[in-house]
Amino acid sequence: MTIFIPEPHLLSSPRGRDWPFPPGACVAARAGDPPARTDVVIVGAGLAGLAVASALWHVGVRDVVLLDRDGRPAGRFFDRVDVLGQRVMRSPYEHHPGLEAYRDCELLDFVRLHWSLLTPVERREVRMAQASHRSVVPVDAFEAFCRHVATIHHVYDRTWQAEVRAVRPDAGGIVVGTDRSAVAARFAVLCLGEERLAAPRRWWRGPRRPHGVCYWDEPLPNAGGPLVVVGAGLSAAHLISNGLAANRPVHWVVRGSERYQCADVNSKFFRAEGRARFDGVPWADRMAHMQRERRASVMYEFRPLLTEAEADGRLTVYRGRAVTGVTGKPGGGPATVVLDGGTRVEGDQVVLALGTAVSTGVEVLPAALVAAREGWPDLDERTLNYRNAPEVFAVGAAAGMVLGPAARNIDGHRVATARVATTIAARLAGRPDPVLDRAGAEVSLV
Ligand SMILES: Cc1cc2nc3c(=O)[nH]c(=O)nc-3n(C[C@H](O)[C@H](O)[C@H](O)COP(=O)(O)OP(=O)(O)OC[C@H]3O[C@@H](n4cnc5c(N)ncnc54)[C@H](O)[C@@H]3O)c2cc1C
Repeated sequence: MTIFIPEPHLLSSPRGRDWPFPPGACVAARAGDPPARTDVVIVGAGLAGLAVASALWHVGVRDVVLLDRDGRPAGRFFDRVDVLGQRVMRSPYEHHPGLEAYRDCELLDFVRLHWSLLTPVERREVRMAQASHRSVVPVDAFEAFCRHVATIHHVYDRTWQAEVRAVRPDAGGIVVGTDRSAVAARFAVLCLGEERLAAPRRWWRGPRRPHGVCYWDEPLPNAGGPLVVVGAGLSAAHLISNGLAANRPVHWVVRGSERYQCADVNSKFFRAEGRARFDGVPWADRMAHMQRERRASVMYEFRPLLTEAEADGRLTVYRGRAVTGVTGKPGGGPATVVLDGGTRVEGDQVVLALGTAVSTGVEVLPAALVAAREGWPDLDERTLNYRNAPEVFAVGAAAGMVLGPAARNIDGHRVATARVATTIAARLAGRPDPVLDRAGAEVSLV
C-alpha cells in the first residue's frame, strides 16, 4: 500500500497578518458587570461558546450573556496554539465555528475573500480543499474567521470576563454565580472545554513542581541545552520540532509508540455517518471507541521531520516507557525524568505534554446533577441537557458519550450547537422540543 505523507513545510504559515475587519468592529469583551438577568448564559467563550452564541443569534435568541474567565472569545484556544508555535490547524476547512445546516460565510469562503493575504502554499491548500482533498488551514486565517463570526453575531457585545463558580437550578431557571456577581437566566449552556492534565502525584514529592519542569501550555524559554518532552500527542510534536529548530538535543518519552493521523480523531467519527457508528450503540462499546479514539496522535506532516531527526541522532525516542518520577535541582541545573527500569533522562528543561481532561460540568454543578458515569455526564441524547438539570446544557468535549470522539472538535461543536440552540429557542417560545433525527440527519432550523 502506498501512503502519502504530506511534507513538514505545510506546518509553517505566517502569524499576525493584518486581516481587515468590518468598520467599527470591537474585539474586546464588555467592561463592567454582566446584566443580572438574561435568557441564556453561556459559560465559556471558547470555540464551542462562540458556536453556541452564533447559533442562538441565528435562531432569534439574542438575550444572551457569555461569561469567560479569560474574557476573550476563543482566547484560550489561541493562547494554547501560540505558546506551542502551532501555525496550522489540525482540522480541515469544513470545520469552523457555526451552526450545522446554516450556511453563511464559511471558512473556505472567508479565505478566498482574502486571497491577496495568502502565501502561495496556502493558496495551493485552498485549491486542494476546493477539490475536496485534505489540506491545512492557517491558524492566522482561522483566528481572523473566528473574529469575523464573533463580530457578525454580536458576540463581543455579549461577553464579560468572569469566573463561574456555581450554576444552580432555581425556580424554573438557573442562577449562575461568578467571582463578580450573579446572573439569573432561563437556561445555561456549559462550554467549559478541557483542562490541562496534571502529572500523577507520585511523580514528585510535595505540591511544588521540581525546578526545570513545566507543562505544554506554559511559555518555554530557550535554555539552549537538552530538552525532554513527555507525551505522545501534537503538543509534544510541536515542542520537539521547536527544540530541534533551536538546535537543542531532544529526548522524547512516549508511553506506547507514536501514532500519526490527520485529525486527532479518526475521520470515520466525523459527520453524520460517523456519529451513526457511535449513536445508539451499547455503553461498553462507546467506552471502547472513546478509549481507542481519544489516544494521542501526531499530524502526518511531522513524520518526515521526526524520523529524520531520530535517524541522525538529534532526537532520542524512549518508546513504551512509563515515567515513574521527575526530579529537579532546587537552585537550578538539569531536571531528570526517571523511567521504569531506572533509566534516567536528563535535560535543561522537562516539558510535560500529557494532554487534557474533559470538564464535565462538575466544576460548577452539584455532582448529583451531573450524575457522571465512568467520568461522563448524564446528558439527554437528543437535546444535550443534563438529565437531572433540564435547564443546563453541555457543548464540547463533555458531550463525548453522546456525539462520539468528535464532540471535542470544532466539527462536533456544530452538531451539538444545532441541538442545543433549537431546543432552547423552542422552549423559550413555549413550543415542544424539536424532533431530532437520532440516525444522524441534522435538525432543521426554526
Ligand atoms: C493545541 C491545541 C490544538 C488544537 N487544534 C484543534 C484543531 O485544529 N481543530 C479542532 O477541531 N480542535 C482542535 N483542538 C481541540 C480544541 O481544544 C477544541 O476544538 C476547542 O478549543 C474546544 O473549544 P471549547 O470551547 O470546547 O474549549 P476551550 O477553547 O478550551 O474554551 C473553553 C473556555 O471556557 C472557559 N472556562 C472554563 N471554565 C470556566 C469557568 N468556570 N468560568 C468561566 N470560564 C470558564 C475557559 O477559560 C475557556 O476560555 C486543539 C486543542 C489544542 C490544545
